[in-house]
Amino acid sequence: MFTGVHRGIIKRDSQERRPIGQRLAAIITQFNLILQIFDVIPIQNAAETHWSTELAQAIKSPAELMPLLGLSDTSLPQAEQAMASFRMLVPRPFVARMEYGNPNDPLLKQVLADDIEMLPASGYSKDPLAEGEHNPQKAIVHKYERRVLVITTGSCAVNCRYCFRRHFPYGDNQLAQKEWDSIIEYIQQHPQVNEVILSGGDPLMLKDSQLSKHILRLNELPQLKRLRIHSRLPIVIPSRINEELLSWVKASRLDIILVLHSNHANEIDAAIAEKVTQLKAQGVTVLNQGVLLRNVNDSVSAQVELSEKLFDAGILPYYMFTFDPIEGGAHFDIPIAEAQSLMGQVAKYLPGYLMPRLAKEIPGEPAKTVLAPTFSSGA
Ligand code: SF4
Repeated sequence: MFTGVHRGIIKRDSQERRPIGQRLAAIITQFNLILQIFDVIPIQNAAETHWSTELAQAIKSPAELMPLLGLSDTSLPQAEQAMASFRMLVPRPFVARMEYGNPNDPLLKQVLADDIEMLPASGYSKDPLAEGEHNPQKAIVHKYERRVLVITTGSCAVNCRYCFRRHFPYGDNQLAQKEWDSIIEYIQQHPQVNEVILSGGDPLMLKDSQLSKHILRLNELPQLKRLRIHSRLPIVIPSRINEELLSWVKASRLDIILVLHSNHANEIDAAIAEKVTQLKAQGVTVLNQGVLLRNVNDSVSAQVELSEKLFDAGILPYYMFTFDPIEGGAHFDIPIAEAQSLMGQVAKYLPGYLMPRLAKEIPGEPAKTVLAPTFSSGA
């Protein structure tokens, strides 16, 4: 029988017989392990698939998606037309959280291209928030006094059928790396701005090398205090929160607020909770905003479970938006009075800090309009 010391000697001998390259790799691995143990760098799950691979493997049609869920593809030709104007895109980690055999799954409903999108509906437009009127220069949306929103990219990891930017002219707002000069100049010309919001599309679709360069430049603007990032990507592909991302987050002098976008409790799982823990360890504030959607989360139980599950995962509910009347999404809409009554019932079951603010964005208003929950008599 060998003692620990004997085993150590044998291991060292065998290591010394290995080629220099292998020995170097082993030393680097051991060094990383020590850094991880002392919490200098996050523990990386070796089995984790890189987010870009997950993205490349995303589902792009009902014909591809439905068999994975044990469902038949009954989409009509109109669904093809809907996809022609807004393509279908669903990452597999998100599909894995859908219920097998359930055509009414709330996650499926959000992403499945449907012929119903092509039905005419009056009162729904291509730009329901009139963002075109607040687009003073390429890639900038400046609606509110002290906050500027930067459209970093037109791409997302998931295409949500209800998205109010599904018809946004991203082609006119594509931002090349060198065009960040004009963004920086715009912010400098507006010294009242103290917060930059990276939006899109989904800003986390950019490579970390790009994001890190942009954030370095924003760090240098003394007027800025906060950097907000609006993203759904970590919800649909949790591995997006990786070592590279955590390192630029750690390096930033700005307070970082990550506003995730999740609409249903089934979207939140242990993988996301683990990533949120890593983000919070770097001082990131993690919030959630959702959209109230017909047949997805328009029940008291769905709203209560979402808030509870978010909190369990370390995320605070922030906003629950009423539907923005986007062309193609009318079937998701819920009348405001119904939304207020629903949130009045939800309030019976949640503490105040878990109640998202029901809000509507009204074009031209200086801030989002918060809608008070209403209570029926005896409630
Ligand atoms: S991730 Fe956000 S921006 Fe992208 S399609 Fe969904 S709602 Fe729209």
